[in-house]
Amino acid sequence: MQKTALIIKRSGKTIGLVPTMGGLHEGHLSLLDAIRNKCDVLVASIFVNPVQFGPGEDFKRYPRDFQRDEKLLDERGCDIIFYPSDDEIYPYGFSTYVNVENLTDGLCGKSRPVHFRGVTTVVTKLFLITRCDIACFGQKDGQQAAVIKRMARDLNIPVEIVTAPIVRESDGMAMSSRNNYLSPEERKRALCLKKALDIAEHMVAEGECDTTEIIGEMRSFIELVEGAEIEYIEAVDPDDMTPKQKVDRPTMFALAVKIGKTRLIDNCIVNVN
Ligand code: AMP
Repeated sequence: MQKTALIIKRSGKTIGLVPTMGGLHEGHLSLLDAIRNKCDVLVASIFVNPVQFGPGEDFKRYPRDFQRDEKLLDERGCDIIFYPSDDEIYPYGFSTYVNVENLTDGLCGKSRPVHFRGVTTVVTKLFLITRCDIACFGQKDGQQAAVIKRMARDLNIPVEIVTAPIVRESDGMAMSSRNNYLSPEERKRALCLKKALDIAEHMVAEGECDTTEIIGEMRSFIELVEGAEIEYIEAVDPDDMTPKQKVDRPTMFALAVKIGKTRLIDNCIVNVN
């Protein structure tokens, strides 16, 4: 990949990157569409990054089906698939990590203390290996997108970071590789994440701007759903992830909920009219 990237760059062409962990769905593929016309060569990476999973998380059972993913990427016009092994990315003795502070303290960072350090480390490596000029991340992982933008800014990484909207199933559920873990019954219950976000959007549209009130309503709604366990519901600034008391400018409502054993996240950005 590094040799190929160097040849491409020396020929004066630009490279776009879509990092993924595979288990691809329309959400991932939409990221290719978002930057296709902004680069000459489109690269997708597939790497289930061990260092962003904590002990007891789903690293081992994460969906892996390279042939299926390869077909989907080919059909969607991806030029190069970068599919490294764990040892190539983390050779024996690997000891260097990239860490973004503050933005990673709250939301998912609270219950997944090593997660973002793993993400920022692998994304930095992917940027350096692919020599990409532009990279696309989904708003589905809103905190991750903010963390990567901050990392690129803080470290003067010359990669334009593009964020693409959340792609949803027809009933509103955010697409996720982890939706595969849900039983049909759990899948129905999992819709409570999106419905809670709809409550927030509705309340803001009706003029409510106190986030404690809004979060209270979202929480009460989810607490009525059997088998749903709230990890967090928060209102934060979408750029720096600081908590917000009032919806007086764009505000991200984000939540993580466990449905049975499956941890799901979703978010929406709202603003006053
Ligand atoms: P993952 O394979 O889960 O690490 O996701 C790879 C990229 O796809 C990340 O930038 C995610 O934010 C993005 N992504 C995952 N699901 C969706 C979705 N439903 N809509 C938009 N982007 C998504």
